Amino acid sequence: MKKKILITTAIDYVNDVIHIGHAYQKILADCIARYQRLRRGENNVFFVTGTDEHGQKVFNVAKEKGIDVKQFVDEISKKDQEQQDSLNISYDRFIRTTDEDHKRIATEFFKKVYDAGYIYKGTYKGLYCEGCEEYKTEKELVDGRCTLHPNGEIQIVEEENYFFKFSEFRAFLKDLFDKNSDFVLPKQRFNDMYSLVDKVEDIPVTRRKEKLPWGIECPIDSNHVLWVWFDALVNYLTFGLQKNCWDSDTQIVHFLGKDNARMHALLWPSMLKAAGYEIPSNVYVNAFLSLNGKKISKSLGNVVSPKELVEKYGVDPVRYYFLRYGPIVEDSDFSEEHFKSVYNGDLANGLGNTVSRLFKLSDRAKMSFTVNKTYNDILRQELTQTLDLFRVDNALEIIWKRLSNLDKHINENEPWSIKDESKLKGVLGYEVGELLEVSILLSPFIPDISQNILDMFSKKVSAYPLFPRI
Ligand SMILES: [Zn+2]
Repeated sequence: MKKKILITTAIDYVNDVIHIGHAYQKILADCIARYQRLRRGENNVFFVTGTDEHGQKVFNVAKEKGIDVKQFVDEISKKDQEQQDSLNISYDRFIRTTDEDHKRIATEFFKKVYDAGYIYKGTYKGLYCEGCEEYKTEKELVDGRCTLHPNGEIQIVEEENYFFKFSEFRAFLKDLFDKNSDFVLPKQRFNDMYSLVDKVEDIPVTRRKEKLPWGIECPIDSNHVLWVWFDALVNYLTFGLQKNCWDSDTQIVHFLGKDNARMHALLWPSMLKAAGYEIPSNVYVNAFLSLNGKKISKSLGNVVSPKELVEKYGVDPVRYYFLRYGPIVEDSDFSEEHFKSVYNGDLANGLGNTVSRLFKLSDRAKMSFTVNKTYNDILRQELTQTLDLFRVDNALEIIWKRLSNLDKHINENEPWSIKDESKLKGVLGYEVGELLEVSILLSPFIPDISQNILDMFSKKVSAYPLFPRI
């Protein structure tokens, strides 16, 4: 195991405020960051999230609204950050691609790749999707339209551009995948990405300023700005260099959605190789979340914000729901109905009920407890195997299994009917000990509730309902 770990999420594009579809991945990455702090120590974990703020789409939206572009991105970025804060996301930095240090690092990065001989001037002629801010091939389109932006028009463009010699990295990528079977996770995404290695082609990495006036200026030609991926992807490195952890002692882990897998699994390592930087250790690709069976989309009027949910149900129930039932491998669907049944079943009648039963019993027996095992030992025994593979869903299943075994033990031993004091203390001591260990295991997932349970039993703070009726 490497000493340090750097954890990143996708940075969100600021044409609009994030919704629960974006928030899922932040909760996932946050849970892993909290787990890793227990595993490797606070000072060895670095966690970054933020906003991606340049590009044509955001420029157009600001124009339509008649607002200054910088003012517009400031507003959206602030709202995105509030959404993340409502979910208790414990990032070390909320990076913005308009931050001065990022602009400097992105510029230097481009220059390094250019100086190493991997950038050349050419002419691009082809198809372009404004929604993706990507050039497209005929093959990628369905009925002449982008699959991710079926309502947008595909443009035909011909323009002078600087190109990245992506095709020269096929052998490097093949070797990277061959030697690191967990470079892309989960496994099916690894296979998808591996099958594309031989097909990578040189790509344009700048756009002319008259087409795109809102971007980081290209350091070798002031008529150009950096194309989105040579700007946005570099945010991870900006943070890594700031924290002094972009090195071989650090496990570098990127969380992202499946629409961004290609850029992170193929392009980004090639860019880093070209510029002479350390290659990331893992790219974890999550699937998509839908809402009430439909794609989450503002234009379809089908959006729920994380903050709304948190205000209604509390932060930890929302975190729990997504960590256990979110799109970790396969697409998943959110509905408030499903959420409520999970809240009542797993939380109020599950964990909450066990806590209140044992609290009442130990209060009556006048027993108090201390947590004497270290977090580290408990986590190592139970959860390292699943959480080192980022499977927060499986980890919660393991914990809930332990919780149901505990319930079974309580029902079978009926501590409320035990008259003998020393016997009662033995049974309750075991049962509360189990509950406290479960609470410790839960700390990366539902940190506030976990702490509340530990406080209830060790500091004898008075009991209160952890999961109020909804
Ligand atoms: Zn598109």
